[in-house]
Formats: sequence, C-alpha cells, structure tokens
Amino acid sequence: MPKVLIAGGGVHGTFLSHALTRTGALDTDDITVLDPHPEPLEVWRRQTRATGMRYLRSPSSHNLDLDFRALREFARRRETDPATAGAGATPAAGAAAGDEAAPLFIPPYARPTLELFNAHAAEVIAEAALTARRRRARLLDVEARTDGVRVRTDDGEEGADFLILAVGRTEMPFRPAWARGLSAGGGGAGARPGSVPGSEAPVVHVFDPDFDPGRLEQAAAPVVVGGGVTAAQVACHAARRSGRGVVLLTRGPLRVGQFDSEPCFIGPRCLADFLAEPTPAARRKYIGKARYPGTMPWDVEQTLLAEKRVAILEHEVAGIEPTGVADTAGGRLRIHLRGEVQSVESDLVVLATGFERRLPLSGIIADLARRNGLSTGPCGSPVPDRYLRWHPRVLVTGTLGELEIGPAAPNIIGAHLAARRLVPFFRGDHGGLPADDARDIAWTALTHYLGN
Ligand SMILES: Cc1cc2nc3c(=O)[nH]c(=O)nc-3n(C[C@H](O)[C@H](O)[C@H](O)COP(=O)(O)OP(=O)(O)OC[C@H]3O[C@@H](n4cnc5c(N)ncnc54)[C@H](O)[C@@H]3O)c2cc1C
Repeated sequence: MPKVLIAGGGVHGTFLSHALTRTGALDTDDITVLDPHPEPLEVWRRQTRATGMRYLRSPSSHNLDLDFRALREFARRRETDPATAGAGATPAAGAAAGDEAAPLFIPPYARPTLELFNAHAAEVIAEAALTARRRRARLLDVEARTDGVRVRTDDGEEGADFLILAVGRTEMPFRPAWARGLSAGGGGAGARPGSVPGSEAPVVHVFDPDFDPGRLEQAAAPVVVGGGVTAAQVACHAARRSGRGVVLLTRGPLRVGQFDSEPCFIGPRCLADFLAEPTPAARRKYIGKARYPGTMPWDVEQTLLAEKRVAILEHEVAGIEPTGVADTAGGRLRIHLRGEVQSVESDLVVLATGFERRLPLSGIIADLARRNGLSTGPCGSPVPDRYLRWHPRVLVTGTLGELEIGPAAPNIIGAHLAARRLVPFFRGDHGGLPADDARDIAWTALTHYLGN
C-alpha cells in the first residue's frame, strides 16, 4: 500500500487518518500525520474553550467517527455505564452555576455539548490509536514528483507516495488594521514585530495561542469586538463568570444563521448544481453566497439579548489609542467610533473577528502551483479533481479543497465529504463518484435527524 503523509492533524487530518485506516483504504503503518502539536485536535480544543461555547453549531451526526450515529450512541453508553452514569448531568463546558442539568443535545438536529463532542472524539482517537500516527513537525516545503513527494519540515525531510494537505485557517486570526499596533507580537499576521507579549497586550485575539480568558474576566472595562457567534459567546461567558459588565462592539445589526454555511450543500441537490459549474470562478461565487460568516445561531442570539450585563453597541471602530502608559498592561485605551464624537474607554480589547481570508499554506501552495504548473482558481486556491488530487501526488481537504468539496468544506462535515472522495481513491475503486456518495451521505444524515 502507498505511504501517505497528512499535513495538519486537527479535525480534518485526524478524521482522515481514522477514515482511511478504518475503511482499510490504507494500512495504519502507512499513514503519518505531521503537525506541530503533540496531541490531535489541540487547536480545536483551545479555540473552542477560549470562546466559552457550550454547544456545537453543527449536529451530532457531524462527529469524529465514521458513523453518523456514533456520538448519540456514545452518549447512551455513557449514561448506562456505571463508571460514567450521571455524566449526562455534567454541566456543559462553560455552563454557568445552576446549569447542572444542561441537556447533552439541543435542537435543531441534536447539537451536542462541546464536552460530549470532545469526550467522544477522545474515545475515537484512543481506540484507533491515532496519536501514535503523529509526528511533531510543521510542513515548510513540498517537492512534488511523478513518483511521489519529498517534504521539508522544521524537523527534517521525508519522502512518501502521497501528501494530503489538511491545514485550515485556524492559525491565522484576523486583526483589523486599527488593532495591529497594540496587539500581541505572536500568533497572527499583521502583528507588529517587537510589540508587547500576548499575555500583556491591551488588544488580544480570542484565537491567539496565548489568549487567557481570565484576563477578560478580571478587566475593569472589557470590550469584545465582533458580530458573530464567537463574539456573542465570549462576551456572555465573560459577563457570566465575572458578574461584571462587558461591552460588545459590533459594526452592524446581529444576524441569525443556524449554520455557518447553507446545509443543502452537504447533500446531492445543491452539491450537484455546485459541481455542474465548470469554472473555479463560478464555484467560488457559489461558495461566497452559501457561507454565512458573522452570523450566530438563534439560541446564542437569545442568550446574548437576555444577558443584561452585556451592552451591545452597534458601531464600527475607527481607531484606538492608549490614554495611559502606551503599550503596557493596564494602560487605558480609547476606542474611536466611526461617525461618532463619543468614544469608548477600555483596559482590554478582545478581538473576535474570525480568521484571515487568505489561503492557508499560501507560500507552499503558490510554490507548488508555479513549479508544477498546477491549476488555481480565485485567490490562488487549488483546483483539484473529483478525488481531491491537485497534483497526481498531492491531495487537498478543508479550505484547500473548497472548489471541489463545496461550501461545507472547512467544517467537520467537510472532512466526511473529503473522505468520501479519498477512501475510494486510495482503495483504487475509481467508480461512481461523487453523486452517488453525496446522495448516500444526505440520506444517512436525514434518517439520523428524523430518527432523533
Ligand atoms: C470556535 C470554533 C467553533 C467551531 N465550531 C464548529 C462547529 O460547531 N461545527 C463545525 O462543523 N465546525 C465548527 N468550526 C469550524 C471547523 O470545524 C473547525 O475550525 C475545525 O477545527 C477545522 O478543522 P481543521 O483541521 O481545518 O483545523 P484545525 O482543527 O485547527 O487543525 C489544523 C491543524 O493544522 C496544523 N498546521 C497548521 N499549519 C501546519 C503546517 N504547516 N504543517 C503541519 N501542520 C500544520 C495546526 O497546528 C492544526 O493542528 C468551529 C471553529 C471554531 C474556531
């Protein structure tokens, strides 16, 4: 069997290492996951914990196992197992005091608590011994040849038959231009070289590796900037934990969206229309219309509106200046609002402004395209074939596979959709893709929802 490297061991890389071995498409010993973090899902765990989110936005069918029902069954097993019985009454991660009986799933589509999702993922990872498949290394460069690949990492060089690029945007927190001068020095493009360390910076991003939610709870006049689900969750969580007021600065009215992309694109109807578009530019347009950044599910909006300690100010930030000792911890900040004379004072600004829009691994992708004459779409995105092969030896998933997987590509279900292409490819079973698989996946998910 071929030797395969997967670059990126988060939700996508971990799920694919599981799917490819569980289905027998690849031998366990033939897969190596390259990732700078020792444990699977480290970035996912850190970022979701930082938001204080209690429930996933996606249904329980979108989980780390291959079966759509696996997470529900895991919950049932936990409730009947004497060792873990009563775990159903464990408060969801970030639940407030008095929330002990928080349900494990909430509608619509049985969205699981973060704690349950993570516990189930940990079981899948342990049972399939997925941690043993990892090597701690960051991909730096790829040489793609007709007979295989040679990769350079920060831990040396390695060869393989195939490489799967499974890196999303999660290491690229977005900082608006006005925030960059006072931001932490590490953890995001645009951060000013030599600026204050993240643990002291007066402007931090919730997805910075060293973001400390405790600072937000201790701040005298905390301000959260952003208008989507993360901003709402961070503001509510801090207000609940500290018992104090938090200002949420959002540049427009709150927008509700149950999912962050149109769910129809998981199934055959919309996916077939998407795949019928012949040009990358037309597919990109589809994706633009079907993804809903800056929105929040209805229940999160309700929680936010009910949280009286969070003051929602609908204003765009025009600029920010220190009023105390510049660039030091505790220095007061004045936030100027566009079109307003009045400003907002703060001692800590937390950005919940999502991720940069540029392509992940952009340098590696540009080099691969240039050296091998590979086809790219808008913003330099790879244009892979139906098996997600961009080069005969380099395959893509997640954001990098968006032009073939569709609008749901970066999400958990995007990893399942990618596996539907990659498993048959590595099995050498090159028939009947992708429409039949899309129908199959939608049918299974639908029966699952209706059955619950
Ligand atoms: C707070 C939050 C909540 C979310 N909630 C949901 C939800 O409820 N449902 C849903 O479907 N989606 C959700 N998402 C979106 C998405 O599913 C997750 O972001 C998911 O983690 C994406 O998987 P990933 O593998 O692309 O990224 P990650 O899980 O972040 O993994 C990427 C990995 O690649 C590694 N890496 C980066 N560069 C390199 C390199 N050069 N070489 C090797 N490794 C590298 C990183 O260190 C990381 O370990 C959420 C996202 C966030 C931020």
